[in-house]
Amino acid sequence: MNLEAKLILGAASGKTKEEVIRDFGLFALGDVEKRVNDMLARRLNGEPIAYVLGEWEFMGLPFNVDRQVLIPRADTELLAEEAIKYLRANKGSGARVLDLCCGTGCIGISIAKYVASCRHVVLVDKSVHAIMVARSNVLRNGVSRIVPCIDADATKAPPVSLDKFDLIVCNPPYVPTAEIDALERGVRDFEPREALDGGEDGLDFYPAVIRYWGPTVKENGAIMFECGEGQAELIGEMLVSGGFKDVKYLLDGGGTKRVVTAIKSGTNFE
Ligand code: GLN
Repeated sequence: MNLEAKLILGAASGKTKEEVIRDFGLFALGDVEKRVNDMLARRLNGEPIAYVLGEWEFMGLPFNVDRQVLIPRADTELLAEEAIKYLRANKGSGARVLDLCCGTGCIGISIAKYVASCRHVVLVDKSVHAIMVARSNVLRNGVSRIVPCIDADATKAPPVSLDKFDLIVCNPPYVPTAEIDALERGVRDFEPREALDGGEDGLDFYPAVIRYWGPTVKENGAIMFECGEGQAELIGEMLVSGGFKDVKYLLDGGGTKRVVTAIKSGTNFE
């Protein structure tokens, strides 16, 4: 059976994929049949499978999703993996991490899960709804002891003192406004525009994050951004003029510079 069919049948009947295969041949009646039909109709209408199921996997962990948050992308695992590697190699134990524009919380929660010795991983998003989804994912993944969620705008100064961080990770909206209509239909018609739209050149968020949140990075701490095609080097320059050094670029599976990392130089350019 096709993977999506198994996932839909499982979600509609409360079974795992394995149970769907084990019970193959049993009839789905009544409520289950109706749920399958409703989910199939949504899928056939072009809605991404993750929204139809109400959950998606990232870094091997389950995340609740709905149409007010971006679906976790496989490409974004590059940023999560780099953050986890950095924390394990440096100061994972007792580290404080900030995930800005957290959406579902998938990056920060993966960090909390795989670097369990972190002291705090703070999740921030300006959408109150996203923060509600992120909180549900914190509970679902059992990391509530170290992961608080706060609604705040990444393009403005932190609303409360959040103290200093060893690492900021940030996957902001970065699609240039004019390119949104050319995205594939599932993204364009179903994912929240405010999670994609990075303004005219897609770069609206980066200078604001560097200016307002950069000062919260500890000396020799790190900042890591995800970005779109053709944006990485411009962000690297913004980081250097914002008081960061050792800029590095990481390539995604398609060879695009997808992640930019830098270290806080200690000189404050405020
Ligand atoms: N990578 C996403 C896309 O192409 C965009 C995510 C973002 O703007 N942060 O759909």
